[in-house]
Amino acid sequence: MDVYGIVGNPVDHSVSPPMQTAGFAERGIDATYVTFEPAEDDIERAIDGADALGIAGLNVTIPFKQDVFEIVEPDPLAARIGAVNTVVFEEGSPQGYNTDAAGVTRSFAHHDVAIDDQDAVVVGAGGAGRAAAFALADAGASVHIANRTAERAEGLADEVDGATAGGLETLESTVVDADLLVNATSVGMEEDETPVSAELLHEGLAVLDAVYTPRETRLLRDADAAGATTIQGLWMLLFQGVEAFERWTGVDAPIDAMYDALDEALE
Ligand code: NAP
Repeated sequence: MDVYGIVGNPVDHSVSPPMQTAGFAERGIDATYVTFEPAEDDIERAIDGADALGIAGLNVTIPFKQDVFEIVEPDPLAARIGAVNTVVFEEGSPQGYNTDAAGVTRSFAHHDVAIDDQDAVVVGAGGAGRAAAFALADAGASVHIANRTAERAEGLADEVDGATAGGLETLESTVVDADLLVNATSVGMEEDETPVSAELLHEGLAVLDAVYTPRETRLLRDADAAGATTIQGLWMLLFQGVEAFERWTGVDAPIDAMYDALDEALE
């Protein structure tokens, strides 16, 4: 039996185990998926140990995505994002990927939303914001990054092809003309708040909220009321997992089975 897992601290909240387990079962793959919670300063030993023990693959979550990026061999996209959320243990050195990027693009694609030649606004310049900005620019969008800390957005825009950036006040002049909007901040998770004023949302806009608890954030409710297309963070979570599954197994992931497991786990 192959062993896969997720490394994080804390990790007991993770909904990846039921999602990935459902994927393995549906495809008849003899594998298990478990959680690992190393101490924060033990992550290098944990990755080395996983490699030595023959663990087949890992997901990586908070607070280890940047640390693991330093330990494994990142692919070119993960290297630009500067964070790894998926490790494939192959002969030689463990390979690192960032499947949050595919989580963004595949979420839009699944909802028949085009990215190429579209104007996209990414709110946030942390880990999720970096993944979203690179993913959307690579897929042909013109990207504007708005972040509470403007300097962080500007630093990211310097790295992303053709991107512009500014503080949250730049949302006012950019969202009105945008085709795509991604909330990559944690706003909306703890409180019923939104990072983007409702009056800026409009028909013809597709809004993906990376926040997945609650499922229906205030941003998505406002977007729906404005006639925009709405995409819950569950989809990004699903497709980052789907992409990881495919990296590990080389097999097309069973999207419906993995969606159903996630849907149930997030109820
Ligand atoms: P992170 O690296 O800590 O970045 C946090 C971002 O949120 C920064 O841009 C930060 O701005 C901004 N922010 C935090 N509090 C804010 C506030 N009160 N007002 C305005 N901006 C605020 O976190 P992350 O890993 O990118 O995660 C961000 C969110 O995405 C989380 O909710 C996470 O659960 C979610 N996420 C979802 C998926 C998925 O698959 N659905 C994947 C990854 C992440 P500053 O730079 O100014 O601090």
